[in-house]
Amino acid sequence: MWREAIQQILIPEAELQRRIRSLGRAITADYAGKELVFVSVLRGAIMFSADLARAVDLPLTIDCITLSSYGDRHVSSGRVHVLKDLADSVADKHVLIVEDIVDTGITLQHLWQHLMAHRPADLHVCTLLDKRVRRQVELPIRYVGFEVPDAFVVGYGLDYRQRYRNLPFIASLRPEVFAEDSRQLSGCPAREHG
Ligand code: 5GP
Repeated sequence: MWREAIQQILIPEAELQRRIRSLGRAITADYAGKELVFVSVLRGAIMFSADLARAVDLPLTIDCITLSSYGDRHVSSGRVHVLKDLADSVADKHVLIVEDIVDTGITLQHLWQHLMAHRPADLHVCTLLDKRVRRQVELPIRYVGFEVPDAFVVGYGLDYRQRYRNLPFIASLRPEVFAEDSRQLSGCPAREHG
């Protein structure tokens, strides 16, 4: 059974949903009187963006971006590029990046520079998960759902080899799952970020 790969539930569904409602209230208050653009980073942030958007009581549009990175299947390598760009211009808009997880910060730094080049009115970041202990690049993150330890997590949009996104909670995976993979690894192709 695929669920046997789960080691531990770190954030149960009810706690996730409670925190998302509270983030929604904070965003609603901070952007009062403004129209907001969510930039949802695919695919990892799909669940979070959908629930967060419904917790925000403001005029809001949602756009999506797909980034790619190279490396093995559970370690970020530091090279990022835009695979699929936004549909609409963010010039002069109030833009909020909605991320699943910030780990080293390298992906976010690339995305930040990419969006700033389009001259938004302002740009902030909301991440569901923050793996602070692994940070290499510091960027201001205005909204953080939860801090997580240095473990590879899945669920609620986050994958391992495209699986586990549909779990309604955040969980760690058993180390045997990666051990099996690293035996098979020998220079991986480009993979979609998130
Ligand atoms: P960074 O560039 O900050 O090191 O990595 C950010 C991206 O790496 C995330 O958006 C996500 O795609 C991936 N990532 C980092 N840590 C994890 C994790 O624990 N679980 C999953 N599923 N993806 C992760």
